[in-house]
Amino acid sequence: MAIDQDIEMRAAELRERLHRYNYHYHVLDDPLVPDANYDEDMRELIQLEENHPALKREDSPTMRVGGEVLSGFQKVRHERAMLSLGNAFNEQELWDFDRRVRQGLSPEDDVTYSCELKIDGLAVALTYEEGRLVRGATRGDGQIGEDITSNLKTVGSIPLHLNEAVSLEVRGEVFMPEHSFQRLNEAKGERGEALFANPRNAAAGSLRQLDPKIAAARNLDIFLYAIGDDRGAGLASHHEAIAYMKKLGLKVNPENRHVSSMEEVIAYVQHWIEKRKDLRYEIDGIVIKVDSLRQQDELGFTAKNPRWAIAYKFPAEEKMTTLTDIELSV
Ligand code: NAD
Repeated sequence: MAIDQDIEMRAAELRERLHRYNYHYHVLDDPLVPDANYDEDMRELIQLEENHPALKREDSPTMRVGGEVLSGFQKVRHERAMLSLGNAFNEQELWDFDRRVRQGLSPEDDVTYSCELKIDGLAVALTYEEGRLVRGATRGDGQIGEDITSNLKTVGSIPLHLNEAVSLEVRGEVFMPEHSFQRLNEAKGERGEALFANPRNAAAGSLRQLDPKIAAARNLDIFLYAIGDDRGAGLASHHEAIAYMKKLGLKVNPENRHVSSMEEVIAYVQHWIEKRKDLRYEIDGIVIKVDSLRQQDELGFTAKNPRWAIAYKFPAEEKMTTLTDIELSV
């Protein structure tokens, strides 16, 4: 069936805009619009493509993990793709996720969830060989990232040696704590330099400096949230993977919770909607993961997201003024 020309034009407009937003956010660390505006356009495009499958394109922003690889760094191919997450914006969409999960598993399967804070930073993969840190990379486009080992070695909470001589890849989020961000912007202000828009851009910009001394001076921190190939480590669940990483000496978030129902997930989300301001770092939502690794395997992946996890995004805060009033920089 032919698609209305207006709908085609609208989809093309959204695709072009989202590509542009992605480039500024992921490559330049310099967002053009607040996340809520980006999310709204993305949802509209997803809906249009769902209603009119003929509009789907291989290179649509709905199909791609955001980033691209910057020149100036060595490229690293991820053995397992570093994917994005599907989003939920309200309680109903969390229940929809729960229903999809249960439909994808056998009816007698009991489902439990891991709940984690969604740290607003930059995703990285750390490779340890026989317990020694040998490489750190950005997510990049999900398949290929940038080798930023020298910069990551300056992050005090990333151990250069693990407590056991194991070989594995772990994944986490590097972030800039709120007080470091404020200090950095104050210093920039005093020097008359452009300010960073938010801690995420400051962290991402710091890690993608060619001079590691700059990253070293920025007081970055990390929380690890996954083992790249957790199936290889003899583990049965995500919460066991988190406990194992902790035992190895890796920093994991103390607020992680393993819960037994969607009601408990929603209570966790509610709690953090109210308490997020008390944290010393920024979060932009809650990540909910099916806890059993066997169930994760059964559910699998779409082109862009795991079917066994979802990111609940907090209601938008009025950030427009912050973003437009502040001159952005990397
Ligand atoms: P995402 O933000 O939806 O989620 C995936 C990311 O969450 C992971 O890659 C990881 O970095 C992070 N994460 C944090 N804590 C985690 C945890 N405990 N477990 C697993 N992952 C965790 O996906 P994305 O592809 O990184 O970015 C898309 C989002 O970025 C959009 O929804 C939008 O809000 C924002 N964005 C904004 C603009 C803009 O112009 N403002 C442009 C592009 C993207």
